[in-house]
Amino acid sequence: MQPEVACPKCQAQVTPSPVGFTWWGGALGPRMLHHVECPACHARFNGRSGLPNDRAIAIYVVVTLAVFSPLIYWVLTR
Ligand SMILES: [Zn+2]
Repeated sequence: MQPEVACPKCQAQVTPSPVGFTWWGGALGPRMLHHVECPACHARFNGRSGLPNDRAIAIYVVVTLAVFSPLIYWVLTR
């Protein structure tokens, strides 16, 4: 059970639901970033810090690309 947090968008005290899958992080990314969704306004944010996850998502995407692009390059060019 998630504790109540203040939604950064609508400011309501809500019990957010965990986000299971996202386009940017698959199933792993939202777990790593404690990504949750506000049941009132559907804003998505960090359930642990109560802050928007935008910057963390950008970093996650860049790191993921940096890690996987050599692998993709290797697969395509061998
Ligand atoms: Zn909200």
